[in-house]
Order: sequence, then structure tokens, then C-alpha cells
Amino acid sequence: MTPTPQPIRRLDQAVVNRIAAGEIIHRAANALKELIENSLDAGATNIQILIKEGGLKLLQIQDNGHGIQQEDLPIVCERFTTSKLKTFDDLTSIQTYGFRGEALASISHIAHVTITSRTTASNCAYRAKYSDGHLVPIKPGAASEPRPCAGNVGTQITVEDLFYNVPFRRNAFKNTSEEYNRILDIVNRYSIHNTGVSFTCKKLGTATADLHTATSASTVNVIGQIYGSQVSTHLVKLECQDNSLQFKVKGYVSNANYSVKKTTFILFINHRLVDNNALRRGVETVYGTMLPKGAHPFVYLDLALAPENVDVNVHPTKREVHFLNEDQIVAALIEQLQAILASTTESRNFEVQT
Ligand code: ADP
Ligand code: MG
Repeated sequence: MTPTPQPIRRLDQAVVNRIAAGEIIHRAANALKELIENSLDAGATNIQILIKEGGLKLLQIQDNGHGIQQEDLPIVCERFTTSKLKTFDDLTSIQTYGFRGEALASISHIAHVTITSRTTASNCAYRAKYSDGHLVPIKPGAASEPRPCAGNVGTQITVEDLFYNVPFRRNAFKNTSEEYNRILDIVNRYSIHNTGVSFTCKKLGTATADLHTATSASTVNVIGQIYGSQVSTHLVKLECQDNSLQFKVKGYVSNANYSVKKTTFILFINHRLVDNNALRRGVETVYGTMLPKGAHPFVYLDLALAPENVDVNVHPTKREVHFLNEDQIVAALIEQLQAILASTTESRNFEVQT
């Protein structure tokens, strides 16, 4: 028997948005990454993160950035609302992390969001609560409009009960300490890349932070603080530029005398935390020839490419970027790495300026 066709219906907007949200926010750490990037885009030099139950119960971020204007608060959680992109052509020169105007919207479709923000021009802060992209009353029965309140210049965003309306995803995160570790890992990586910004990350109810960096700390200081002084004393600086391939790289990599059980590979391309399999494999191969079996390196690379050669709009999570001359650039980087490791191994002198 041939099956009869079912009528085609337009999906409810809330369903569409919840599905779209799932593509961007897979887990609490994705939400936090988006929030950190917003704080950095706002020029924050102080970012404080507070977590309860692996971010599923509570994920709070407080920054001292430029804040959000009162009149923008009503639409800030709607989909495709952004202060960062105006025309499609702006994408080629985008300097901010964000541009899609989707993160806050997505989060508000799968969690309860409260924003408190104050700009320098305003003499008080405003607080608003959101659900499914729109303002909702802070307390039952109250008006939905943003309410004036006390607060410092900057923005505080509170995300509660993540995935409360996506039960199968909520249930997938039974192990909240694993989720917390993912969150901490993201904060660690951003703090290494963003010296000059103080990051704090702690669990709600604990006295000491799991990460607290000073604005004055150098990259090597921060790496040592997170991964241990063992690593920081075995770091070699890598720095070079290639005008024909149009790239510049800076970074710190561990030398042949240091090894850990698992590779730490931190890659930022044009300040975006991304992964690149070809480069990762290349790095592992180089170290594979130098380190004993089962030993692995620490690698942090800050790669700057000509913005017009990078396509950041490959995936909503921006986890991947595509760039021109990828094979040649990866090969050139590997060659540099090999050269610098060979020279330090010969001299057996591994001092690093901090
Ligand atoms: P996008 O970052 O792609 O613009 P988001 O949904 O992440 O989209 O944020 C929407 C807008 O909200 C941003 O363009 C920005 O104007 C504002 N915003 C979000 N977070 C902050 C923050 N921490 N400080 C200042 N403005 C913010
Ligand atoms: Mg954003």
C-alpha cells in the first residue's frame, strides 16, 4: 500500500527557534563561550563567571564592558539583532567575535535569561528578563519593561535552567562536574589568549576561584598558573610572519624536555578559538619524532591571517573557519615549529622571558 502524503504545515516559530538554538548551544560551555565573546566585544577588562551544577542550573557572567543601552534591551534577545554587522560586505572585515545576532536569542529559547546592564552615559543600570526571545516580567504580575536598578557600568547576564524545555538534552548532562571542567577549559583558553583581561571562574558557594588571572599577567604567567610551572619553564616562543602567504603567528610551545600524557593544543585564528585538524596532526607528528612514546606537548598558537582570506561564516558555532592556502600555511607553520624545536634542543637552553 502506498503511504498517503501528510499535509505540509508551517512550523510554529517557537519550535523553529528552539531547533535553531540547539545547533548553536549543544552544552553549557557553548553558551558560556558566546557570553565571554560578547564581553570581549564590549571591551571588558574584567570578566567574572559563576557556575552552579555545570552551568545547567546557573551560568552567570559579569563584565565591565560598554554595556547595553536601555532602549536596546527590549530586542537584544531577538534573533538576528546585533550591533556589530550592518551589511553583508562587513563580514570580510569583521573585527568582533559576534555578528550573527543569534547567541542571546538562542540561549533565551532554551533557558531563562536575565540581563542587567549599565552604560557610562546612564546613571543607573536596567534589568530585564527574557523567554523565547522576548521580554517577560521579572516577577509574576509585574510589567515586562526593563526596570531601573543599582549596578556598575558593564553587563551581567544570568542564564538559569539551561535546556529546561529540551528534556533529552538536559538528561544527557548527568555528570555536572564534567560540564564544569569543559567550562573551565574554555575560560582557561580565553584567559591565555586575552592577557590584559582579568578572568575569574568559580562554582557558586565555593570560597576560592578555580581560575583568577590578573590584568597584568603575561601569557607565560597565565599558562603557568593554569597548566603548572613545569610547563611554563619549558616553553619556547614561536614568532614569525610570511608575507607571501599573508600570515603572522605568535605562540608558546613546550620543548623536547617537557611532556604530558595528553596534548594541549590551543589555537586561535584571528582571535577565534578554533580547531584545525591538519595543523593539529602536523604538530603531533613533529613532537612524535622528538618526545618519548606516550609523551605529548603543550602548544598555544595565535595565528593572524588576512581577514579577507578567512571565512568565519562556515558554521553557527564558528568552531571551524576556512581559509585560503590552508595546506601551504599549515606546512609553513609546521616547518617553523620543527626549526625552533630543533634549535632549542641543540642548545639545551630553555629560558623563557616572562
Ligand atoms: P552578536 O554578538 O552576534 O551581535 P548576540 O546575540 O551575542 O549577537 O548579542 C546581541 C547584541 O547584544 C550584541 O550585538 C551586543 O550589542 C549586545 N550584547 C550582548 N552581550 C553584551 C555585553 N556583555 N556587553 C555589551 N553588549 C552586549
Ligand atoms: Mg555574540
